[in-house]
Amino acid sequence: MALIVAKFGGTSVADVERIEKAAAKVAREVEAGHQVVVVVSAMSGVTNQLVGYCDAMSKLYDTREYDVVVASGEQVTAGLMAIALQKHNIVARSWMGWQVPIITDDTHGKARIEEIKGEEIMARLNKGEVAVIPGFQGVSKAGRITTLGRGGSDTSAVAVAAALKADRCDIYTDVDGVYTTDPRIVPQAQKMKKVSYEEMLELASLGAKVLQTRSVEIAMKMDISLQVLSSFEDHVGSDYPGTLVTREEEIMEHQLVSGIAFSRDEAKVTLIGVPDVPGVAARLFDPLATAAVNVDMIVQNVSADGKTTDMTFTVSRGDLPRALKVIENMDMDYERLETADNVAKVSVVGIGMRSHSGVANTMFKTLASKNINIQVISTSEIKISVLIGQDYTELAVRSLHQAYGLDGEQVVES
Ligand code: ADP
Ligand code: ASP
Ligand code: MG
Repeated sequence: MALIVAKFGGTSVADVERIEKAAAKVAREVEAGHQVVVVVSAMSGVTNQLVGYCDAMSKLYDTREYDVVVASGEQVTAGLMAIALQKHNIVARSWMGWQVPIITDDTHGKARIEEIKGEEIMARLNKGEVAVIPGFQGVSKAGRITTLGRGGSDTSAVAVAAALKADRCDIYTDVDGVYTTDPRIVPQAQKMKKVSYEEMLELASLGAKVLQTRSVEIAMKMDISLQVLSSFEDHVGSDYPGTLVTREEEIMEHQLVSGIAFSRDEAKVTLIGVPDVPGVAARLFDPLATAAVNVDMIVQNVSADGKTTDMTFTVSRGDLPRALKVIENMDMDYERLETADNVAKVSVVGIGMRSHSGVANTMFKTLASKNINIQVISTSEIKISVLIGQDYTELAVRSLHQAYGLDGEQVVES
């Protein structure tokens, strides 16, 4: 007998029929003798619609009320899932985030889970009950409803698995595993049987939205066995049909490059003619950090005249207005400001890079052969990222996928 957390994403609970199919999978696990906690997303498209309502009501909405609105999508699917499970004669009930409770900090809109009190749920699991928990939502210490940021149901599921010391967390979605890149962009992408936490963390944070980054962080820290699998196929998680996200030691063979990620959610800011004196970077990046603007890639050019230099950095598109506001009020002179949001970041990720050189060279040569200009480069131990013109994203991803020998047979959609 195992304790399994099974999370179903938006497309997997998109309507009543799909919820019934998901419930049938849960029922199979229960019949096999396992204890199951189900975590559900909102029906696909619902969260976007709810966010749209808030935007339409006010551009400067109260984020506490935004959370009340957007958390409601998961309440609907949790209740429906419990009803669907009851049709299988399973004793099931829903638990809203505040009922569990899943306690978070008070950063409304992108809260972090601080504690999950799982005793009551555990006691009921031991009596044969199934718990259905809405993903994405929690409650602050002040008693207000919070949400965990887009894609946050993955994080709810992994955090619940950690709190209940589950044997496994299964993430049911609309693809049958983690691929070498987004299979919707590159049909030759190949499914990985296993991927290390470190690589998955990079892939997720660099744009592969199959798992929310925070969920991988928690899984890695708490050593939770995480599986990504399809909700549309006949298997259940206990058959291990998907991709296992696991410790590096569990993986026998390491590819030089395991995957390619991309993100179009990028904006580039360049300050031209800033004084080339000590302390300039701090005067820019300190107030940006205080304003909770996440700065990603940074380049400072060598000064040609010894007096002034140019500074380029990237932020997510949503953060650009706040970044510009910070620059407006900044205590530093500069000649000119340029911004661009028609850019994208493409990254190659692989643990094999630690011990092999030449990965960067292949990337630069491949992009050059396609006439793709690199605007900014950044590297870490296991990844190389480049900023390029947005229009070249797909071409860059496809060419790099082929250049690193990742292409498999084309997947034909039935
Ligand atoms: P869910 O609603 O189930 O949470 P998401 O839409 O959040 O599903 O995530 C699944 C999607 O992630 C897939 O449909 C796929 O297009 C995308 N994706 C991006 N990169 C990858 C990758 N490397 N492997 C698999 N899927 C990926
Ligand atoms: N429903 C939320 C979203 O669309 C959370 C999730 O599905 O993971 O972002
Ligand atoms: Mg998701």
